[in-house]
Amino acid sequence: MNLSKSRFIKGMQCQKLLWLLTHKKEALSEPDMQQTERFSVGEDVGILACELFPKGARIHFCDGISYNAKRTKELLDSGTNVIYEATFIYEGIVVMVDILQNTPQGLIINEVKSSTSLKEVYIYDLSVQHYVITHCGYSIKEANLIHLNTDYKRGKSLDLTRLFVSVPCLESVQEFTPKIPTILSDFSEILETKNEPNIDIGLHCDNPYSCEAKSYCWEAQRNITEEDSVFNLAWLNGDKKLGLYRQGIARFSDIKDIDSLNYKQQLQIECFKNKSVHIQKDKIKEFLGSLSYPIYHLDFETFQPAVPRFVGTCAYEQIPFQFSLHIQHKDGKLEHKEFLAKSGIDPRVELIQTLLDSIPPNAFILAYNASFEKGVITRLAASFPQYEKELLHIASQIEDLMYPFAARHYYHYKQNGSHSIKVVLPALVPQMESAYQELSLVHNGGEAMECFATLESKPKKEQEEYRQALLAYCKLDTLAMVEIIKALEKLVG
Ligand code: SF4
Repeated sequence: MNLSKSRFIKGMQCQKLLWLLTHKKEALSEPDMQQTERFSVGEDVGILACELFPKGARIHFCDGISYNAKRTKELLDSGTNVIYEATFIYEGIVVMVDILQNTPQGLIINEVKSSTSLKEVYIYDLSVQHYVITHCGYSIKEANLIHLNTDYKRGKSLDLTRLFVSVPCLESVQEFTPKIPTILSDFSEILETKNEPNIDIGLHCDNPYSCEAKSYCWEAQRNITEEDSVFNLAWLNGDKKLGLYRQGIARFSDIKDIDSLNYKQQLQIECFKNKSVHIQKDKIKEFLGSLSYPIYHLDFETFQPAVPRFVGTCAYEQIPFQFSLHIQHKDGKLEHKEFLAKSGIDPRVELIQTLLDSIPPNAFILAYNASFEKGVITRLAASFPQYEKELLHIASQIEDLMYPFAARHYYHYKQNGSHSIKVVLPALVPQMESAYQELSLVHNGGEAMECFATLESKPKKEQEEYRQALLAYCKLDTLAMVEIIKALEKLVG
């Protein structure tokens, strides 16, 4: 059996996935922009961790597996202390060790992950390495998982000994490794069969990773993304949705006991059935009456570098790099202010100063999903005490435009259970139906995040195009808020 460590992990998640990888690759989706970026972050973190064990010999994947296994053996035989990507093969199973230490008492396997904690799947990962390496005739002294440490705040320079945490895992690995022969024999049996394994969907489709066969198993085979799928019911957790699905309740029309659902779920089903819009005019009027003009519509974009880039920040800390501010006056006049940081420098102080210059004290501020904007400002206040008072005052002034939609004072059947601004806008303001799709390069917060994080590595001309795309995206978010207010006002007359 030809099996890499990553296929072993995929097989542990789902044997059907392993089979599809071998027999029906076309059923698998290509990684999207965000997954690709995550892989690249993982690689960068792996390379950085090598500096904890300097002057090692590197095995290069492109030289070929057989050559690399031979080269690893030569390096070990010649007493090389540290090998990066050391490669071993046993009965067709190939493993590459991120950082292998060669000591007189035995080998030390170090697996590096860009995550911030130990997960069960990493024990499988280390265990298959342990299994192959011991069968190649080596003894293993330690098996460690090295991950990022969120308790460490970087100073002027990066202290790698504090940025990373090494967790000893040998005991758990030794407990799991004896199960591997049985697992491998199951995998072998599955892979030999010509028929696709009959494995149902479940929570395992997203655990530990979002499976690349989801569009095949969920959409193509089961039509589960249809609007009236129980998987689209709002305020119902994944376990309960699967529970309904397993009882044969896959569509809204299959639900007989409608009273077992909450008010918002019943409303969703009702509006879907009748293709109707639910409007509680009195509540919307009350909400609009609570606003005072001019309204400052605020939206931030943030990114979360895995390796802290700026003094005082930790791994994956959310760093705001952009905001858009539309100022809507009672007479319909609209002003726009914005900020987009230069890449490569700490954007926070300049962002704070521009924000404070743009929003007067006691301004009435709206955000869509205000807890996000409040959280960003509160963290800035904690990091920069010199601005704490003014920032916390701004945070306290923010009201939430999402409220009437989350509370279902307005619900359009096209929202499909969601109240995100990306679905509310086209439902409520049809002339802006395709506004987000028509944007170029950046269409959502995830793309904005990846775009800014990688801006510096792009050619100069592309950098300018992406900066324009970021400005256009963030501006649309606050313009959408203005249009939503106007549409609500129109609704209640
Ligand atoms: S989507 Fe789910 S059932 Fe299908 S292969 Fe992936 S994990 Fe298995």
